[in-house]
Amino acid sequence: MTLEERSSPILKAFEKAVAWARMNSVWAVHYNSGSCNGCDIELLTTITPRYDVERIGIKLAGSPRHADVLVCTGPVTGQGKDALLRTYEQMPAPKFVVAIGTCALSGGVFEGSYNTYDGIDGLVPVDVYIPGCPPRPEAIINGFAQLLEKVENYA
Ligand code: SF4
Repeated sequence: MTLEERSSPILKAFEKAVAWARMNSVWAVHYNSGSCNGCDIELLTTITPRYDVERIGIKLAGSPRHADVLVCTGPVTGQGKDALLRTYEQMPAPKFVVAIGTCALSGGVFEGSYNTYDGIDGLVPVDVYIPGCPPRPEAIINGFAQLLEKVENYA
């Protein structure tokens, strides 16, 4: 029996523990890439005690270096593009992206505008899309539940 085979049950248990910890402590960094603030207000409502997403382990982090998830609102403006890419690059792997609101999904009312990109998925890979203008906190929580499934199944 090789060393790898002997340690495999331990490795598997360790990987399971890491996956469990990751799923129960998802830290998110919020980036507004040009939103009208409607989506931001709904997101902030979602983290207040009334909706309390901390009970499912989701909490806002102050720095992208401490975050597992990039939560993005708004269309990406020409001015915000570099900061979005820099924020994404600063996050440690594994990292996930949630797009909140029609503007982040497709450009929304700003689609085709001279200074916006149509949807953030043209710049960073998006894991969960939450449509709405703006989406209600219940829709955002539903999106977070989809995200937790992705985090749990991350291999
Ligand atoms: S989706 Fe609606 S609420 Fe959200 S940033 Fe765009 S216009 Fe504002």
